[in-house]
Amino acid sequence: MVKITKMNIPIIAASKISRTAQYENILNYMKHCNSKIKWESEEFITNTGQVLNVHAKHNCRGGNCVIHKPSNHHMRDWDLIWRDDRGCFERLCPEHGVGHPDPDDRNHDGIHGCCGCCQISETV
Ligand SMILES: [Zn+2]
Ligand SMILES: [Zn+2]
Ligand SMILES: [Zn+2]
Repeated sequence: MVKITKMNIPIIAASKISRTAQYENILNYMKHCNSKIKWESEEFITNTGQVLNVHAKHNCRGGNCVIHKPSNHHMRDWDLIWRDDRGCFERLCPEHGVGHPDPDDRNHDGIHGCCGCCQISETV
């Protein structure tokens, strides 16, 4: 059984992710919301042209979401990259071309080669 340590809303890229991983993601989600809401997915195209299969909007809950409810972070207009190899979203620094964890992606472990640009606090 999958151990659930924190609330997790899976964002699924159907293109390459293994069926097992998808299934576990769905299991995690279903256990979290503990409801009979029908699991559905929808197509989402990133601003870099990646076509992803993500959870549908009505399956989205619990605060911010990279897809449906991005927070007002300073990287939100940067290129959005889905990392198939790590199963998470990154934002590409326009100045250095370095990927940073999207702050709204709770699946990201935070490990990345950093040019420091994800640390900049938003100037109002
Ligand atoms: Zn969502
Ligand atoms: Zn960074
Ligand atoms: Zn940078």
